[in-house]
Amino acid sequence: MNDSLTITRPDDWHLHLRQGRMLERVVAASAQVFGRALIMPNTDPPILSGLDAGYYKQEILRATEKWGKFKPIMTIKLTMNTTARMIHEAAEAGVKAVKLYPTGVTTNSQDGVDLGRLKEMAENLVFDAMADHDMVLCIHAEHPLQPVLEREPYVIPFINALLGWAPRLQRIVIEHVSTERMAQFVASHSDRLAATVTAHHLYLTLDDLLGEELKPHYFCKPVVKTSSDQSSLWWYLLHSDNFFFGSDSAPHALHKKEACSCAAGAFTAPILLPLLAHMFEQHDALDTLEEFVSHRGADFYGMERNYDTITLVKNNHPFVVEYNEGNDELPRPMPLRNGETIYWHVAR
Ligand SMILES: [Zn+2]
Repeated sequence: MNDSLTITRPDDWHLHLRQGRMLERVVAASAQVFGRALIMPNTDPPILSGLDAGYYKQEILRATEKWGKFKPIMTIKLTMNTTARMIHEAAEAGVKAVKLYPTGVTTNSQDGVDLGRLKEMAENLVFDAMADHDMVLCIHAEHPLQPVLEREPYVIPFINALLGWAPRLQRIVIEHVSTERMAQFVASHSDRLAATVTAHHLYLTLDDLLGEELKPHYFCKPVVKTSSDQSSLWWYLLHSDNFFFGSDSAPHALHKKEACSCAAGAFTAPILLPLLAHMFEQHDALDTLEEFVSHRGADFYGMERNYDTITLVKNNHPFVVEYNEGNDELPRPMPLRNGETIYWHVAR
């Protein structure tokens, strides 16, 4: 039995930190463990330009001063109004990636991209501008008008077409992959595509979400899928360097989760490493954990791997989520499955 595991400090290649008080409340959980995180731009108001990203980065850095090493990597949100010039300016301001949300697909995505107009955007040189600066295009790959469990595979033809319309764009990430068909598509285009995989898609299935009682804290986009999809995600991440970790930790105030109209998003940041270590151990794959959380993403983004390490310890004291103190209007993490005990924790 492994009782301690030291790995290169991990990065989170898909993180929602929100703004203001919410940001202050949630950022410690990420900043204390991860070296870097790719910060999602679907805030309210959204991060649309290099200037927006610069201000947002300053806000994050102010909130994480105490954990001096944490580096936010900034993104902007692609809209139908994004121009090639805006992409150039964002790149010059240090933005590394551009996030594509199809219109209406998830939290704050009303001003997203019409998948039917990708060719037009390519003709307007928006994707060429990204290629000029070696930026990464990150895609929330769900078609909002299709049946909920089919939304992800329905986007495959659009991405396939985009690969042709934007031949210079060399790095595209399918975010939070959730289905076998999409994982297979990514693996079959591994020269240009990669995928992030969340902890909750590796951990939960539809049965956990609504098989017994409805668990609002397990509700996210893309919705967690069947156990056969989940097995595929495991297979691909254990066999392909193109699958790396992005948590998609997405906090919402409690009243927005425990509501008749429940917001999509699983707030997982406080439990990520213990949960991942637990799951990788169950899959007899602890030796792949470091690659998945600390190496592959940095390699794909063309950044140095972190120099320092973290240590995960397994002992007889179950991991306890200590995140329920304080104002109920503030978020709390996705509760773990009933009866589940996690014996791993991050050594401080
Ligand atoms: Zn997300």
